[in-house]
Amino acid sequence: MATNGLRSCCFLVALTAVSFAASTAHGTAAARNGACGGALRVPILMYHRINVVTKHTPAISRRLTVAPAVFARQLAWLDRNGYRTITQGQLLAAIGCRGALPPKPIVLTFDDGYADVFFRASTLIAHHGMHAIAYVITGRISAGDPSFLTWPLLTALERRGIEIGSHTVSHRDLTTLSDRELRTELLESRRVLERRLGHPIRWLAYPFGAYDARVVASARRAGYRLAVTTRGGDLQDVHRPLELERLRVLDSTGVKGLAAMLAAA
Ligand SMILES: [Zn+2]
Repeated sequence: MATNGLRSCCFLVALTAVSFAASTAHGTAAARNGACGGALRVPILMYHRINVVTKHTPAISRRLTVAPAVFARQLAWLDRNGYRTITQGQLLAAIGCRGALPPKPIVLTFDDGYADVFFRASTLIAHHGMHAIAYVITGRISAGDPSFLTWPLLTALERRGIEIGSHTVSHRDLTTLSDRELRTELLESRRVLERRLGHPIRWLAYPFGAYDARVVASARRAGYRLAVTTRGGDLQDVHRPLELERLRVLDSTGVKGLAAMLAAA
């Protein structure tokens, strides 16, 4: 089954936790975008699959699958409400105080590298002139399972404005690995992506959102500049660019849920 081994990638985002984060020491004033040295308020939405759920959809995938029609309405709502999707390069520059962000910046992310990111999501994203990033498991690319993206589709995604990041080689919990295994998961996935796509890859998503200080240090040594977690929130600490927070979008989120999440954040 396509989703074997892919257990749920993160903890549920509690709106109360998001609200709490917004009122903590970093504070709302310090979080104004463009202010350097503190935190940036940038919602990073976490999607997995965009597809129609059928009786054949594995139970484990259902909660992580957003219907194409709902996804289309979410993008239209973001567009209508002035949100501007930004690239990883823009986010990195802003975190490093080397560039300002547009008003209401937002990042769209897709974990696990399912083929429906290309077949279902990318045309809608391109239609709105938006950006996004797909974090792929390199061991599953062109590996025979049609549920996952292929190397030609990765190239096609890039042409549609969707960046590619690493979700490691085999989607293991990085905190449980030996130093050597950890290095391989991080470095080999980056190297194969760079070789195939022909440019540097500096963006990472931790499988299951699992990370600790050792994993972060190893990711930094492996050449990553930004990494997303599954910790709920949208207040990005500029001193911790390898521990970015995200807001999880589920099948049940819909447009109202997305609006509420962003209003609370
Ligand atoms: Zn994952």
